[in-house]
Amino acid sequence: MSFAMQHGESEPGSNAPGSDEERHHAPLVDPDPVRGQLTQDAALDKLVWFKSGGPADWLFEPADLEDLTRFLSSLEDETPVMALGLGSNLIVRDGGVPGIVVRLGKAFASIEARRDGTLECGGGASGILVASSARDAGIAGLEFLRGIPGTVGGFVRMNGGAYGREVADILVDCDVVMPGGDVVTIPAGDLGYSYRHSLLPEGAIVVCARFQGVKGDPEVIGAEMDRIAREREASQPLRTKTGGSTFKNPPGDKKAWQLVDEAGCRGLRLGDAQVSEKHANFLINRGEATSAEIEGLGEEVRRRVSEATGVALEWEIKRVGRP
Ligand SMILES: Cc1cc2nc3c(=O)[nH]c(=O)nc-3n(C[C@H](O)[C@H](O)[C@H](O)COP(=O)(O)OP(=O)(O)OC[C@H]3O[C@@H](n4cnc5c(N)ncnc54)[C@H](O)[C@@H]3O)c2cc1C
Repeated sequence: MSFAMQHGESEPGSNAPGSDEERHHAPLVDPDPVRGQLTQDAALDKLVWFKSGGPADWLFEPADLEDLTRFLSSLEDETPVMALGLGSNLIVRDGGVPGIVVRLGKAFASIEARRDGTLECGGGASGILVASSARDAGIAGLEFLRGIPGTVGGFVRMNGGAYGREVADILVDCDVVMPGGDVVTIPAGDLGYSYRHSLLPEGAIVVCARFQGVKGDPEVIGAEMDRIAREREASQPLRTKTGGSTFKNPPGDKKAWQLVDEAGCRGLRLGDAQVSEKHANFLINRGEATSAEIEGLGEEVRRRVSEATGVALEWEIKRVGRP
């Protein structure tokens, strides 16, 4: 089945220049001062859940915070910077990502529990690690992160949520490295949180977040985490190349997946991209789908839903890079 490709609105800053000339002018960076891993033309497809998309001009995996701030402060002002977590909510377009992609590794995955029920988490720590550490420390209220396959940085930017809770409910504040290399602490109240959205400045990298929980029984917390894991397994295509919920649930009674179903899109295909049969708000890559096919299928679903129901679905998945 083939569709006319339409491209809807993009996330701020995701509209890359695109011309061949611009494409080959990757920013000049000086690899000398870095202690971490700096790779030019680094493949990103293997680092994102959809397993598709082009390379980063540069991929930087800093050794620690000092390495990150020093490197960012050495860049020219206009150099685009983007953080990458587990790529669980991301379409990286086939032309790749301009500028610098920063991926936080083990040095940014530490977690420390405090007596007052707060958990200080590195920006690269996974949801499972955060939830398990909270359980072990007897801190309740963070169980929902068990079911979201991303990193702390991704949760803070996306206001990740599930089972009636979201990051806005638990975040105290976060430490962020700005594109010029300055580190600032931003209180949750300044992030302008709304559904799956924050006002975190573009290019800002969350390196640490403090979450507030309440005292709880590790056994009860663990049982809730197990329940969440079982429920996820039953309802979502977890072992698939996917990007999580494709569209935000619109205001009103109906969830995005119900509207996708009403428009008859469950199972719809474009090349190797498909609307999941298991969960109609998930797109999947059946094998060799390009990002253009995945994004094009999403746009076709939006068009059909709008025609059938009058609702304009909004992308939840971030789409970045050059077409
Ligand atoms: C099977 C599956 C189930 C999912 N279920 C849910 C769910 O229930 N609820 C939910 O909310 N989401 C869900 N998601 C989506 C996804 O897990 C979340 O959006 C998550 O927050 C993304 O985290 P990430 O670290 O992988 O970010 P990425 O996908 O790598 O990036 C997403 C955005 O966050 C930014 N970002 C990443 N790291 C940082 C950082 N350190 N600092 C600043 N910005 C950063 C990126 O630049 C990008 O804009 C699901 C995804 C999958 C694949």
